[in-house]
Amino acid sequence: MYDLAIVGCGPAGMTAAIYGARANLSVVLLDRLAPGGQIINTNEIQNYPGMGTVNGAELAIKMYEHTQELGVPLDYRTVTSVERTENGFSLLSSEYPDDPVSARAVVMATGTSPRTLGVEGEGRFKGNGVSWCAVCDGAACKGQDVIVVGGGNSAVEEALFLSEVARSVTVLVRRTMRADPASCDLLRARENVTIREGWSVVSFEGGSCLEAARVRCSATGEEEVISCQHAFEYVGLDPVTDCVSDLGVLDEAGYVIADQGMRTSVPGLFAAGDCIAKELRQVVTACSDGAVAARSAAHWLKTAR
Ligand code: NAP
Repeated sequence: MYDLAIVGCGPAGMTAAIYGARANLSVVLLDRLAPGGQIINTNEIQNYPGMGTVNGAELAIKMYEHTQELGVPLDYRTVTSVERTENGFSLLSSEYPDDPVSARAVVMATGTSPRTLGVEGEGRFKGNGVSWCAVCDGAACKGQDVIVVGGGNSAVEEALFLSEVARSVTVLVRRTMRADPASCDLLRARENVTIREGWSVVSFEGGSCLEAARVRCSATGEEEVISCQHAFEYVGLDPVTDCVSDLGVLDEAGYVIADQGMRTSVPGLFAAGDCIAKELRQVVTACSDGAVAARSAAHWLKTAR
């Protein structure tokens, strides 16, 4: 029985682990994948204080090393359900169905997963032209024409990265850009980048590989076929919160509802980072949430019974 189980080893979870360990709690981190969460798919993070411009994977490794200096174990498993027990919580996983993890308190730091467009051809060219990770697949775009779908910070940052590799980058934004203005200005200044606001993808087309995207203008209904060998979708994120869907802690969109102390309505269950309902999802806010959640968990463990 751990004092604190943290589900998710991204910035929020790792910060909660650091604060939990420093509060002398016995802590375990649970994740199905390598440490880092979404930041490992980010080429450059430019707004984490003190780091200037830092590669996402490098920052993830530094955070993970910090948890290891404090001796926090990382247990690789996919948590499928968090259940209340007499003494706390039992965390079930798909890999070890007969060996749940027990903890007196839990921090949910499961983050989000990328949304898909759901258009024709997307499934067929997935991994063969259609991608959700410019850091992973960008190198294959050398000298190619690529499209990026979306107008948020992810789309803009990854389009900037791709513009350094690809011959041309066409950014398709279904309405208007919503990324921060400084990043949009940087992108607009790139000579090989075209931003098309008011345009959406209708379908992906090609033979054995992606060759083109059919796009439509929302104002006129006009359609065009744009030649491209790669397409990157950055059309938002969905919360990864299925494992607590039975606990009555989610809002309509599936985000965990947490108060300022990162407490949910279930005693002993806390939440932090991108999986909670909030306005600003950044690495720095995820870390802040993680610190608050661990501090609240430590306080609750001392005083609750
Ligand atoms: P986002 O901010 O939710 O933006 C999603 C974009 O995709 C919007 O342009 C949206 O258009 C578009 N979109 C949604 N559904 C679509 C569809 N079916 N077809 C075409 N376009 C569609 O998502 P994000 O960029 O992944 O960012 C997620 C969060 O992480 C945000 O809070 C963001 O600020 C944060 N983030 C921060 C940084 C940073 O600060 N360094 C970096 C990356 C992400 P509409 O506007 O029309 O809805």
